[in-house]
Amino acid sequence: MDYELMQLPYKYDALEPYISSETLQFHYDKHHAGYVAKLNELTKDSESASYSLVEHIQKSQGAIFNNAAQIFNHDFYWLSLTAKQTKPSETLQASIIEHFGSIQKFQEIFTQKAQGHFGSGWAWLCAHKDGTLSVQTSSNAKNPIEDSLVPLIVCDLWEHAYYIDYRNVRAKYLENYWQVLNWDFASFNYEHYPEFIEAMQGLKEFPSFKYQ
Ligand code: FE
Repeated sequence: MDYELMQLPYKYDALEPYISSETLQFHYDKHHAGYVAKLNELTKDSESASYSLVEHIQKSQGAIFNNAAQIFNHDFYWLSLTAKQTKPSETLQASIIEHFGSIQKFQEIFTQKAQGHFGSGWAWLCAHKDGTLSVQTSSNAKNPIEDSLVPLIVCDLWEHAYYIDYRNVRAKYLENYWQVLNWDFASFNYEHYPEFIEAMQGLKEFPSFKYQ
C-alpha cells in the first residue's frame, strides 16, 4: 500500500503563540512527510507493504518500524493538539482524579516525566487493559501499543517539536502544551479504549476520532 501523509487538521498558525507556524511547517512538511516518504521507499515490493501502521508497530523492526511508528506517533500528536478550549469528559476526569489525585497533579506528573526523559521520544497518557491510567515515556519512535497499552494523548519530545520556538528549553514547551491539548481526543480515546484493545488484537477496526 501507499502510506499517506495525514492531513493536518488545522492551519499552520492555529496553535500560535504556543506552537509557531514555522515549527508546524517544518515539523509536518519535513519531518512527518519525510517518515511517510521513507516508509513507502522501504516497504516497496516488500511483504510488509500491506501492514497497517499498527501492524508495523507490532511486527516490524529496524528502519521500517522506526518510520511507521513515527508516522503513527505524529498522526496521534496532531490529533492531541487543538486551538479550541476543550476539557476532559466526566468519565475521563473521574478516572484521572482516581489515578493521579487531580487534573493538576496529573499534569505535573506528565510534565515531570516528559521533562526527565533523556533524548528524543514521546510522553503519553495511556490506559491499561483494566482501565488503569499511567504516564509513560518512550524513546525515539517507540510506542505504548508495543506493550498493549492504549495511548490517549501524546507529546512529542523530539527537539524538532520545540527548538525553533523554545530553543533547548523543553520545560517551556511542556508548560504551553497544556494550552493546546485536545481533551476531546483524550476523552474519545478513553471512552473507546476497550475497542482499541480489541482492534490491537486484530478483532475489529480502530475507532476513528472525528476532528472538529
Ligand atoms: Fe516530531
